[in-house]
Amino acid sequence: MRIAIIGLGAVGSAALRFLAKQGHKAVGYEQFTRGHTRGSSHGESRIYRLTYADPHYTRLMRRAFELWQELQAEAGEQLIVPCGVLWLGEESDPELNVIAHALRSEQVAFDWLDASETAARFPAFRLEKRERALFQSEGGVWRVTHCVLAHLRPAEAYGAVICENTRIVRIERLPNHIVLETEQGALERFDRVLITAGAWIPKLLPELNLPLTVTRQTYAYFAVQQGAESHFEPACMPVWIEATRHFYGFPLDGRQAGVKIALHQLGEAHDPDLPARPVDENDLAPLRACIHRRLPEVSETVLHAGTCLYTNAPDEKFLIQHLPGDSRVWFVSACSGHGFKFSILNGYEAGRQVVREG
Ligand SMILES: Cc1cc2nc3c(=O)[nH]c(=O)nc-3n(C[C@H](O)[C@H](O)[C@H](O)COP(=O)(O)OP(=O)(O)OC[C@H]3O[C@@H](n4cnc5c(N)ncnc54)[C@H](O)[C@@H]3O)c2cc1C
Repeated sequence: MRIAIIGLGAVGSAALRFLAKQGHKAVGYEQFTRGHTRGSSHGESRIYRLTYADPHYTRLMRRAFELWQELQAEAGEQLIVPCGVLWLGEESDPELNVIAHALRSEQVAFDWLDASETAARFPAFRLEKRERALFQSEGGVWRVTHCVLAHLRPAEAYGAVICENTRIVRIERLPNHIVLETEQGALERFDRVLITAGAWIPKLLPELNLPLTVTRQTYAYFAVQQGAESHFEPACMPVWIEATRHFYGFPLDGRQAGVKIALHQLGEAHDPDLPARPVDENDLAPLRACIHRRLPEVSETVLHAGTCLYTNAPDEKFLIQHLPGDSRVWFVSACSGHGFKFSILNGYEAGRQVVREG
């Protein structure tokens, strides 16, 4: 079957590899180059974790993790940095309690740590006396750009064709096939089409009025004080998330100098066709306040900062659907700020559906 995949970020690259491996004639279209920085799947790090308030995601994560391990073995390079995840908050924080409850319901082991236990085990952090931490060991970091490239390399080896710098501008559904038109005016015929265009999905499918909003998000790398670096290595520092406040961060990643810190809160609405406004002092001030509160050995000096796009669906859910009345064309929107860890699962699932249906 000849299948087009529109968009080669986290989800599209996974789907391309899956479909090519199944023996389909898969063609992936990417409007920029592989590994570009204009969408949602670039950089050095994304968090993976079992710690969700909704145990549905804990179960999904377990399935996804097996697939990521397979990919890592096939790629022959480190894509996963296991270091655990640490949630921090007030003793009475309701979010911490809901997560603990959900973990128990899935028989996932975790530890409660008070302020002094946290300092002894993970010296990078400072907690107030009235605060506590929840540590769960099955969490860590995906090396995000490497994961996308690790899907694309074998996809090509299985026979997939990758068209970079090729934007699809029109999808015409005819009775016997589907025609895609590129920005350059070329027309190509397919049996099936999978749209994995991230923040551009609403532009490709305006007639659906999808409940998706695109927002500009930011992150920054801050310098670690000289002599304290060992406290920030993954062996000693888990990824961390502040309950309720939703600041989060990573250990040293060995690539970009400093430690990465960000805020999971919807940024300003953004048109993905425009370059995102560079990171400014308004973006950095809350991150600096968080450092001051939490990470006494991190300085407020910014070494690097960047932007990224969230494509948000209601309730942070994912959409995997076919077009109304036409199951030859599917689309996947799996971001909402937490979709990378599931992108391999969503890419494979969408690949399965697009072949099965129609
Ligand atoms: C700051 C930030 C932090 C995040 N943190 C986490 C985290 O810690 N853990 C986690 O699990 N998830 C996290 N996420 C979410 C995760 O990164 C996203 O869910 C995931 O990367 C989305 O992948 P995607 O394939 O849907 O979109 P994208 O990676 O954006 O891919 C879509 C691709 O389609 C291409 N495209 C669009 N339109 C066309 C067209 N017409 N023709 C051809 N190509 C087209 C685009 O150029 C792009 O490459 C974070 C996201 C951001 C922005």
